[in-house]
Amino acid sequence: MTAPTPLIAGNWKMNGLASSLAEAKAVAAGLGGSGVRVAICPPSVLVHRMSEALAGSSVLVGGQDAHYDDHGAFTGDVSAQMLADAGAKLVILGHSERRDAYRESDELVAKKVLAALRQGLEPIVCVGETLTQRKAGQALEVVTGQVRGSLPAELKARPFAVAYEPVWAIGTGLTPTIPEIEEVHGAIRDTLKSLFGAAADSTPILYGGSVKPNNAAEILHAREVSGALVGGASLKAQDFLAIVHAA
Ligand code: PEP
Repeated sequence: MTAPTPLIAGNWKMNGLASSLAEAKAVAAGLGGSGVRVAICPPSVLVHRMSEALAGSSVLVGGQDAHYDDHGAFTGDVSAQMLADAGAKLVILGHSERRDAYRESDELVAKKVLAALRQGLEPIVCVGETLTQRKAGQALEVVTGQVRGSLPAELKARPFAVAYEPVWAIGTGLTPTIPEIEEVHGAIRDTLKSLFGAAADSTPILYGGSVKPNNAAEILHAREVSGALVGGASLKAQDFLAIVHAA
C-alpha cells in the first residue's frame, strides 16, 4: 500500500486579476522544502499567465471546471484540452457551487473526468452533503453515492483526488468535527477501494470547507485526510502558506 502524497490546492473561484499573480509567486517563493504537493486553481483566463509566472517552481496550476467535450459549439465554456494547452496540470470538477448553480449531475461530472483524463489532467472531484442531508442522517449515503456516480472506471491506476466538501462548510466558517470528517473520509476510502482496488490506497482524499490557518493542522492530521481544497484562505499567500506548512 502506498500512502497518498498530501495535496493542498487553492481554489480562487471567480477572484483574481493579473495583479494577483504576485500572490501566486509569493506562494512559490515561500514553499521551502514542504513535502506536500501544492496547486493553485485560478479563473481560467489566468491559467496561462499563472503557468508562465510559476514556471520552474513546484506549484502546479489547475482549472476550476472543464467541459466534457474537447471543442465545439459551447459558447462560454472552456475544455480540458484548452486548460492543458494553457499549462494546467489539474482540474477541479463537480464543485458544489457548480453542482448547485449549473445543476451538474454525477453523470455530467463523470463525463468531465473522462475529458480531463484524455488530456492528462489530474481531476480533483468534489463531493459533499448539504446541511439538510446531514441533519437527516444522509451524509454518508449522499457522499458515497456521489463518489460512485462521479468516478468512472477509467480512473483506475490514474492520478486523481477526491475532495470532501460539506456544502454547509464552504465559505461559512463552519466545519464538521474531526470525528465527522474522519467518518466521511473513511467511507470515501472504502468506496474507492471497492471501485478501484488496492490502487485506491494512494488516492489523496482532501477536506475542503472553511480551512484556515488556525484549524488547518488539526484537520490535516485527521485520519484519512491527505490534504485540503482551500477557497477563501488561498487568496492571500501568507494564509495559504500557513495552511501548506501545517500539513
Ligand atoms: C471551496 O470553495 O472549495 C472552499 C473550500 O471554500 P472555503 O475554503 O472558502 O470554504
